[in-house]
Amino acid sequence: MIKIKTPAEIDIMREANRLVAQVLQSIAGVVAPGITTAELDNMAESMCLKMGAKPAFKGYGGFPFALCCSVNEQVVHGFPNGAALKEGDILSVDFGVILDGFYGDSAVTLPVGRVSDDAVRLMEATKASLEAGIAMMRPGNRLGDVSHAVQKVVEAAGFSVVRQFVGHGIGRALHEEPQLPNYGNPGRGVQLKAGMVIAIEPMVNSGGHEVRILDDGWTAVTVDGKLSAHFEHTVAITNDGPRVLSLP
Ligand code: MG
Ligand code: MG
Repeated sequence: MIKIKTPAEIDIMREANRLVAQVLQSIAGVVAPGITTAELDNMAESMCLKMGAKPAFKGYGGFPFALCCSVNEQVVHGFPNGAALKEGDILSVDFGVILDGFYGDSAVTLPVGRVSDDAVRLMEATKASLEAGIAMMRPGNRLGDVSHAVQKVVEAAGFSVVRQFVGHGIGRALHEEPQLPNYGNPGRGVQLKAGMVIAIEPMVNSGGHEVRILDDGWTAVTVDGKLSAHFEHTVAITNDGPRVLSLP
């Protein structure tokens, strides 16, 4: 069952997601060659606690860290570690919090120093696909309209959409119904209604769409070893259109 949120609940979710956005913005400000993802994880966790929220991912299903850090061919759910980031890497950071019983969830992919033109194109296409999907998140549209809009932008740019992971409803739980794939057919699936809150999160590969999970049980990587990017926003569907809750 899809849980409809009241306007007051959506306002709380806005606060939770604002904290997530602030943390991601601070991380974006310090990412550079030489910094380690373990340092970024510490920074995210301490900022979050200082703001009176709880990091959502630490301990979720056994995930050991506050921040997901996925470098280059890593798609999602990468572990922070003590290795320094290098010039030319791309880093996807995914962060979530719990505030007053509600979850926030957002992700961005950041360049480390100067990156290749291909990496820039991949990040821009992924971000554009997220924007195209959000534009379709209006009452009366269907989930398939959102999925299709994302897929169209990604494939027009010559990239591929990851199938194995999807967006999700979010509220008092991190993952609620419905699931929102980043590929699909327009006019299909559940009809969107005001009060639904959904995390939309295209994961886009520069090569093939296939991914596999490393022996750590979490880190998803591209099978062909090519780059992957990930952007995510938590969005409330309202009668005035999509309200992106995870903006700074
Ligand atoms: Mg996320
Ligand atoms: Mg998510």
